[in-house]
Amino acid sequence: MRHFPAFLDLRGRTVLLLGTGEVADRKAEPLKRAGAVIRQAERFAPELLEGVVLAVGADAAEAELRALSAAAQARGIPVNVVDKPALCSFITPAIIDRAPVTVAVSTGGAAPVLARMIRQRIETVLPPAIGTLAALAERFQAAIRARLPELAARRRFLDAALTGAPADLALAGRVAEAEAAFARALEGAEATPPGIVYLVGAGPGSADLLTLRALRLMGEADVIVHDRLVPTEVLDMARRDAERILAGKEGARHDLPQAEINALLVRLAREGKRVVRLKGGDPFVFGRAGEEAAALREAGIAHEVVPGVTAALACAASAGIPLTHREASRALTLVTGHARDGRLDLDFAALARPRQTLAVYMGVATLPLLRDGLLGAGMDPATPAALVEQGGTARARSLHGTIGTIEALAAGWTGGGPALLLVGEAIALGTPPSAS
Ligand code: SAH
Repeated sequence: MRHFPAFLDLRGRTVLLLGTGEVADRKAEPLKRAGAVIRQAERFAPELLEGVVLAVGADAAEAELRALSAAAQARGIPVNVVDKPALCSFITPAIIDRAPVTVAVSTGGAAPVLARMIRQRIETVLPPAIGTLAALAERFQAAIRARLPELAARRRFLDAALTGAPADLALAGRVAEAEAAFARALEGAEATPPGIVYLVGAGPGSADLLTLRALRLMGEADVIVHDRLVPTEVLDMARRDAERILAGKEGARHDLPQAEINALLVRLAREGKRVVRLKGGDPFVFGRAGEEAAALREAGIAHEVVPGVTAALACAASAGIPLTHREASRALTLVTGHARDGRLDLDFAALARPRQTLAVYMGVATLPLLRDGLLGAGMDPATPAALVEQGGTARARSLHGTIGTIEALAAGWTGGGPALLLVGEAIALGTPPSAS
């Protein structure tokens, strides 16, 4: 982030506007709307900065603008000179004003036209009366605090009220009815709402492969308990003020033992929190969500499972590999390459059968064991195989070979990201996706 966004309270404060003309008028307009007192001048003089909280330059001679910028910055007064980034200490965003709701968009000066396009898109999805709704919530602020001292309860109430009947009425401009509905809802609100745990699939690591349901729940969560497999890009989609707890990663090593994760989920829910347990891919595919769900059931805690795009599907898509194929593959088998006591406890005779595709999770470290097991059970060493790393993300890479050669090829190729092994005749029938 190149610039830090902030919203200034300018009511009754003085803003110096240097220059006169059309651009200066345009700059003055939103400042006036924010309640600023404009001190306008054509020529710069240092005393003009007396008592000023913000300085803006437009439609004035270059030398005047330079003097303004230097003097303001020397005094620590934020200054903006239109179309002269070098003279600015702050830049002005594209604004959507639905007071008290204000949206500001900036591209850090890189492409102001793009900022305006983004603003237009936001305008179209923001109901015109959104400000009415915000004002309504503001009028109830003190009452909500008094009735619901717990933060989690307040959030829960507001989430429901700002999307439910009171909101519909406010957005329709029926303010009195909205106010009554809001008051009724507040009266009936539970001071300690029961907690709930959502076991949510985060997909393969790309924010736009989250489901809409996952996105909504992440936006409403009080706490996010996530694995290492879930990247920042995805976590950034969660509610900003949600507590984030790293519970460790699926696979060979756990930062927190499973029993402790189970206990953590139960404890958080008992505190009345809305918990999103976020797992890479799908929670029920090598995600141990089954154990967590059982622990929650035993503790009598409400929970729901939200599916996600599992690595096999994301990797196949990234590498352009069909997982099933009318001739080459009639079945898809998801299998773990995770070894116990140095052994792979797998039914190799079944896995070595032709006309199926194997998707091996957690299999990079145990590739030799897997290859030996499959070849020992009669699989043709020429059977196509591919390794796909960071499937479903912009960083996806794939490596093609056969079950006989892939391990040797993989040495020196792996980049350290999560990788999945695909094995089967269908792999050779893929077409790598093209960018155009
Ligand atoms: N629940 C997850 C799997 C967890 S097991 C899911 O449904 O995808 C962890 C293994 O998944 C990793 O060792 C790796 O084999 C695989 N994996 C997860 N994300 C991946 C990705 N983006 N690309 C390739 N493999 C991935």
